[in-house]
Amino acid sequence: MNEVRDEVFENISKRVERIREKIRYASEKSGRSPEEITLVAVTKTVEVERILAAIKAGLRVFGENYIQEARKKIEEINEPVEWHFIGHLQRNKARYAVRLFDMIETVDSVRLAGEIQKRAELVNKVQPVLVQVNVSGEQSKSGISPDELPELLKFLSKSTSLAFRGLMTMPPYFHDPEKARPYFSELRHLRDRMADKFPSLSFSELSMGMSGDFAVAIEEGATIVRIGTAIFGERNRQ
Ligand SMILES: *Cc1c(COP(=O)(O)O)cnc(C)c1O
Repeated sequence: MNEVRDEVFENISKRVERIREKIRYASEKSGRSPEEITLVAVTKTVEVERILAAIKAGLRVFGENYIQEARKKIEEINEPVEWHFIGHLQRNKARYAVRLFDMIETVDSVRLAGEIQKRAELVNKVQPVLVQVNVSGEQSKSGISPDELPELLKFLSKSTSLAFRGLMTMPPYFHDPEKARPYFSELRHLRDRMADKFPSLSFSELSMGMSGDFAVAIEEGATIVRIGTAIFGERNRQ
């Protein structure tokens, strides 16, 4: 492994420990086990040394938003960790996403699912995916609308090269995390309804909650939380 300076490691490892405590507290408060929660460290704009420090601090799952940036870093890091794609995926980048990522969290249309399926078939991969849902109905947010979700799930239930694992969402930003709660609980209810409707699909994951609101998301049933700023500090605006 490349060099990681001590002060970089200590800073990140302290922050990770604090987050782990909060995850433990939030899951116990809601009668769940912290082992049910996967912490995805979001590394967009974060340089390799700090990602290596996070690996050294025990993190094993990382999330990236941009294919080109991810490709360079994943190759350089070359560690047996898991990578999730969490950005908006353009169809013409689907083949890179299939090659690089253990999970694509942001499938939001039948057309995109079809392209990922085609690329996965070509390399004999069964690609784990989540479907990103726009529960807030905000125009600016990506994600499929709850109305269109059944059609996409029907497609996924017939696919042998896409392994559907659950739903993901990103509510609007609120300073007060309690304001995000209704969106998290809406995703959970949607999951329950869809699980009844599609008994052949496995709805094991609910990916929701970021630095500011992951405790609330866990109380509402999150199994994956995606945390950037609380681990690595503020990002430079791109
Ligand atoms: C950037 C990002 C995150 C992490 O956000 P923080 O507030 O820095 O924790 C989580 N999910 C997605 C989809 C993101 O783009």
